[in-house]
Amino acid sequence: MKILVTNDDGIYSAGIAALADALKEIAEVTVVAPSEEQSAVGHGITMKYPLRVTKYHKNGNFFGYAVEGTPADCVKMGIRNIMGESPDLVISGINHGSNTAINIIYSGTVSAAREAAIMDVPAIAISVTSHDAKDFRYAGKVAKMIAQKVIEHGLPQGTLVNVNVPNFPENEIAGILVTEQSKAKWDDIYEKRTDPFGKDYYWLTGKLVEIENEKLGDQFAVKNKFVSVTPIHFDLTDYDTFKKMKSWDIEKIFNEKTN
Ligand code: MN
Repeated sequence: MKILVTNDDGIYSAGIAALADALKEIAEVTVVAPSEEQSAVGHGITMKYPLRVTKYHKNGNFFGYAVEGTPADCVKMGIRNIMGESPDLVISGINHGSNTAINIIYSGTVSAAREAAIMDVPAIAISVTSHDAKDFRYAGKVAKMIAQKVIEHGLPQGTLVNVNVPNFPENEIAGILVTEQSKAKWDDIYEKRTDPFGKDYYWLTGKLVEIENEKLGDQFAVKNKFVSVTPIHFDLTDYDTFKKMKSWDIEKIFNEKTN
């Protein structure tokens, strides 16, 4: 089995090292990751700058390829240029910080996995719920286990799996839940500050506004110390509204105008 490993925290991060280590037990692992942190860049791709690739060594051993680009760039280039073939699986992470609810949209970690799904490769995004996580061993075990399940059962075209692991030791984890994306959104605060030259600038902060009793949600799961496993897809069509909108006679406006 061949697995492409990537992330958005950068090739130097502790999370990607733990992920690569865990997956080496079950697969041939190729690491292609951003040369610098790319958290919250979403699904951006690089079109106006050159994409330089360098080999990154860790403790004297070759670890992987560092790309001066986004997580989505890494997956595209990793498959097309570096591996030169589709892997059996792409796994993105282990992200430092949760990717539940609306964060799925902003996340570089999830976008990398989504890019793999666009390229028809089964994909998993995995995150630990703390930015200061130090121990990724349990999340590594979860990644390996979910990878084996995805290989065993397969995924529909365009679907990927988003995994969030509470930042607790294994013996404190309550269990694993298959969940839905929570409807929770951010209450953004742009904190106003002043630079040494007297000019104002702003820094984004805020808090995730929880939805009460969202028992099937990813956010509810991780708050209650469950590992959350959510199938998601990138087809953004709203099929219910598609049907309803047909009766708006929007198409008729053109026909009436031209006929
Ligand atoms: Mn990140």
